[in-house]
Amino acid sequence: MVDYEMDPPGLCDRCLKELVSGRGEFYEIDIDARVDSSPPILDAPNQLSRDEMDEQWGKVIEQLESIPQVDAENQVHCRRRILLCSPCFQTWIENPAGGD
Ligand SMILES: [Zn+2]
Repeated sequence: MVDYEMDPPGLCDRCLKELVSGRGEFYEIDIDARVDSSPPILDAPNQLSRDEMDEQWGKVIEQLESIPQVDAENQVHCRRRILLCSPCFQTWIENPAGGD
């Protein structure tokens, strides 16, 4: 009777190595990213009249409404789970934002 161990958790998101559970070989990283929640700053609001302000806001709202819902939600709140094998995790955690 073939009874494989639990489903493999997946592949390392960096090097695509197959990860094996139960051996402490990999890390699960939950990313919970939220957009800056401060109100939008419009360009030079002091120089705008009330009507112009409304017009600006109209444009902002139009832009928001033209974004498909899924994208809009992703832009506000984004949750991801990634898996990294140990070596990749060590590299990543030193420089999680990437770049040099
Ligand atoms: Zn890896």
